[in-house]
Amino acid sequence: MAHIDDSFKAALYRITCPDSATLGNLHLGLLPNEATAQIEEHLAICPLCTEELAQLEVFLAETAVSHEPSTAERIKIWIAKRIPTGGQSRGGVGTPAFAVRGGDDGPLMYEAGNAQLSLEVQDDPDHPGRKAILGLVLGIETEAVTVRLFAGEGTETAVTLDDSGNFTFANLEKGRFELLLSGPDIEIYLPKLTIK
Ligand SMILES: [Zn+2]
Repeated sequence: MAHIDDSFKAALYRITCPDSATLGNLHLGLLPNEATAQIEEHLAICPLCTEELAQLEVFLAETAVSHEPSTAERIKIWIAKRIPTGGQSRGGVGTPAFAVRGGDDGPLMYEAGNAQLSLEVQDDPDHPGRKAILGLVLGIETEAVTVRLFAGEGTETAVTLDDSGNFTFANLEKGRFELLLSGPDIEIYLPKLTIK
């Protein structure tokens, strides 16, 4: 794993891309004209950001998350970006407090604005053949944060963050999911989470 192709790493980390808070603000029309123009220039050449923005728009439309003008000014929407788990991650995130060694793939690490998100997919010990997600989010206020998991067929499960930023989803089938953390002044959206 130490030898992952550099271009692959670059694609994951995308250091030249605008950060996720900026894309969210662009979506909400909160950026100054000059910044909007710069990002639109970037979007024209970056399929990754274009896809992310499209996913965000579709997701917000589908889930009917509406932001009235008064709340749009204080709610930050961040799109979680996968970051490499090797040496490049700034500061780093611990694994979830209750994670055990020998998880399927080790934790998946994401960066979303000021927040860092770590997800570990494991076999669910209480439900043979099913999976569990152990999550940890750092860098945000953990009070009154709801985490919602959307499955492909439209089902939705919601849990709340504990004081330390941990959350768990259990009894999951394999498939593709979307994750949304919603707090009083923040939303973190993870458009693609595949459980194999
Ligand atoms: Zn980009």
